Amino acid sequence: MADIHLPLDNSEPRTVSILGATGSIGASTLDLIAHHGSRFCVDALTANSNAQLLAQQARQFKAKLAVVADEAAYCELCDALSGSGIEVAAGKNGLNEAAERPVDCVIAAIVGTSGLDPTLAAIKKGQRVGLANKECLVCAGDLFMDEVNRSQATLVPVDSEHSAIFQLFDFDHPERVEKIILTASGGPFLKTPLEAIQTATPEMALRHPNWEMGRKISIDSATMMNKGLELIEAFHLFPIGVEQLDVLIHPNSVIHSLVQYCDGAVLAHLGTPDMCIPIAYALTWPDRISCPVEPLDLAQIGTLHFEEMSEDRFPALALCRQALQTGGVAPTVLNAANEIAVEEYLAGKIRFGDIARIIGGVMDQAEQENMLEKASDLHEIAAVDDYGRERAKSAISKLA
Ligand code: NAD
Ligand code: MG
Repeated sequence: MADIHLPLDNSEPRTVSILGATGSIGASTLDLIAHHGSRFCVDALTANSNAQLLAQQARQFKAKLAVVADEAAYCELCDALSGSGIEVAAGKNGLNEAAERPVDCVIAAIVGTSGLDPTLAAIKKGQRVGLANKECLVCAGDLFMDEVNRSQATLVPVDSEHSAIFQLFDFDHPERVEKIILTASGGPFLKTPLEAIQTATPEMALRHPNWEMGRKISIDSATMMNKGLELIEAFHLFPIGVEQLDVLIHPNSVIHSLVQYCDGAVLAHLGTPDMCIPIAYALTWPDRISCPVEPLDLAQIGTLHFEEMSEDRFPALALCRQALQTGGVAPTVLNAANEIAVEEYLAGKIRFGDIARIIGGVMDQAEQENMLEKASDLHEIAAVDDYGRERAKSAISKLA
């Protein structure tokens, strides 16, 4: 990883672009930037189709470029920004342009595989990338990390668990690490009777006990797919074997992850559960800045709880482990099927319990059809991603 040290006392503000500015991570990043006033300067902001919110953010933060992925929203964005002097663009090329403009940090906060191309565009330019968009690593981890190494880009994780591990991991002596332990809150269904989970409504599944997040990751947290995607993310970010990755239920969400060393020492990273902290770290590493977050009051919390993870309760986690062990493009297929299953669940088309069943069925089918060999380039990844989506849609139509 390139060692880019940007001192914070530098009189020049740090320039930041945000891919996915209108989402939960994007908005938290902008809140942090607003809190620090002149220390940061916003360059490009992107959204999928919410032109009004994007325009409002672009005006407020005096962005230089605003981009909507959805070309149908281009005129609306132009109208909303007319007279502002802010450049406007749309579509894939616009997203890539936003990612490639040289800045001190690009926050990659698009949800799903749609974020892969623009995030890679930033990586290829050797930028520093704060990575929230975990699906990039799940869908194309090997190719993505090859590109990071080739371009000497700096990748700093934003996902709270990976930010924690990034701070705890002895990169000079990876052989001393015995285990990485990812903590999981357990989500909204940790204590729900198993039969009731099967038919849980989106409203119930979206109600996360500790974190406020976008809709897709909230459903992933309820199925525990999120933790499974995070196992795959950790596998690519840190020099560690599949069998050294563990998950532990920790409903308090105070310990964000742990690293266990060969001498028995276990290092933990604690903090108030607020994404502002890992976002700030990604923006300023290896420095730190203050965050507008309640300080952690351990005396008030009193007790930290832990439980063993149950893969009976959360079959999606077992599917992720299986994908990681199978290797090749199994994680690509899993991720694609999950994106479709979550969409269809949120649209009321399938039941909660169907999500993992659909993904498992698609993975079995992909194995039988010999679709899981390693991909050699991004075209092959895109084809496998399409395959996973098509198979998931077809399985869902059969359910109906
Ligand atoms: P969100 O749904 O709130 O926001 C997603 C953003 O991506 C929005 O700006 C949206 O306009 C944009 N977007 C959606 N589809 C797009 C498309 N096809 N093309 C271009 N842009 C598109 O999601 P979020 O909760 O902010 O999560 C973003 C990413 O960060 C996800 O990968 C998630 O797993 C990860 N993450 C989120 C949190 C969290 O607390 N929200 C924590 C850790 C990791
Ligand atoms: Mg996380």
